[in-house]
Amino acid sequence: MLLTLTTTQSPATDLGYLLRKNPARLQSFPLSFGTAHVFYPEATPERCTVALLVEVDPVGLVRNRRGPSGEGGTLDRYVNDRPYAVSSFMSVALADVFGSALSGRCKERPELAAAPLPLQLAISVLPCRGGEEFLRKLFEPLGYAVSARRLPLDARFPAWGESAYYQVELAASMTVQQLLSHLYVLLPVLDNDKHYWVGDDEVEKLLRHGQGWLASHPERESITRRYLKHQRSLVDDALAQLTEDSGPSPDEIAGRQAEEEEAVERGISLNEQRLGAVLAALKNTGAARVLDLGCGEGRLLQGLLKEKQFAEIVGLDVSHRALEIAHDRLHYDRLPPMQKERLRLLHGSLIYRDERLAGFDAAAVVEVVEHLDPARLAAFERVLFECAKPKHIVLTTPNREYNVKWETLPAGQFRHRDHRFEWTRAEFQDWANGVAARFGYHVHFLPVGPEDPGVGSPTQMAVFKP
Ligand code: SAH
Repeated sequence: MLLTLTTTQSPATDLGYLLRKNPARLQSFPLSFGTAHVFYPEATPERCTVALLVEVDPVGLVRNRRGPSGEGGTLDRYVNDRPYAVSSFMSVALADVFGSALSGRCKERPELAAAPLPLQLAISVLPCRGGEEFLRKLFEPLGYAVSARRLPLDARFPAWGESAYYQVELAASMTVQQLLSHLYVLLPVLDNDKHYWVGDDEVEKLLRHGQGWLASHPERESITRRYLKHQRSLVDDALAQLTEDSGPSPDEIAGRQAEEEEAVERGISLNEQRLGAVLAALKNTGAARVLDLGCGEGRLLQGLLKEKQFAEIVGLDVSHRALEIAHDRLHYDRLPPMQKERLRLLHGSLIYRDERLAGFDAAAVVEVVEHLDPARLAAFERVLFECAKPKHIVLTTPNREYNVKWETLPAGQFRHRDHRFEWTRAEFQDWANGVAARFGYHVHFLPVGPEDPGVGSPTQMAVFKP
């Protein structure tokens, strides 16, 4: 398998410093599954190309039990695409041979490592499970121009049709470290093959090499899933760390949320009153396409499904666990096709812009803001009010003033220990008025739950409209 990397930034031979491989020499490196060779087919001040050729030894693979599992019979273990097609073996070779460049180090010329360069990458045979479309979805958001040609199964026998392999060229302006980290993660993702054991350290590797780009990648979920070979607990772990890089896992938070908050608010079934109020506000907007952001276990979604007015309903949450519970609560698998088409559950975080959320008539954000770190609030505001920009937004949050009325709540505490803050009515209105002014909305406020003359209602609701 062969990969070449070219730069045209003069003096182009600086690439040799970056990769710590002398352009004048051919070097070979033993790997556990074969041999890697590095050489420069072209090395002039105007244009320099480095080639990484990896020879995989299929017999050695079987001996070391690192080859395909042999599901297709014994022959399959010896005769397969591993020697020819760029796969996770190439990632291992990249990390081995260009380790310092992959981690962004350049001893002799540190300033070189930090500078974006015009780079072109060519791969002669790349398996793209998911096709050219998926290839583009992976690389284009990272700023690459992608060109791909699907290879015939055998050029001499056109009637045999096309293969699953592509000849691929990628062009971008970025640092060599960025490019290598993208390849390290995305080559095995494209291959999507299970040929090596995935352990806990793969989560760490994924997060380390994905740093700075994976968390905001629109395909972060499929990348994580495929990279970790669909091993559910690892995938969940990685996604949780990607979406919230601090604090307890989103699943823990969502789980505890349900129990603790309900215990505190029991008695008046505030939960039901709140959902009723939100549902009514959403109906009032005349919306047909609605979002439930931070949908949790799907109580509001259940209510929305019952209303014919809502033709398209999308629930989003950062917690996988909560989404699974929502999925079960809604009996998603048993819904008739027409109903199923109306409803989608998405995994995602409200602090990263997300194109899937654009173009809706209305969004509900029920008891979610107070779970966000105050430092992330500004990001959330832009994601919701500037990028997703639904026409109407119905947002609720606890009223801190009312906490003195809860018998079980010690003074000075929040209703839920994962609440990062709870606002007084004045604080909430200040925030909401500010956001409305900045992003071009009008906002009004409604109490939810029994109103006390002194401290107001337990829940406060803001309704934003154009
Ligand atoms: N709206 C639901 C759940 C409220 S609990 C209800 O009223 O019943 C808060 C929810 O917000 C949890 O499910 C939690 O997982 C989710 N959440 C917290 N931070 C989030 C984020 N950054 N992006 C998306 N959802 C988030």
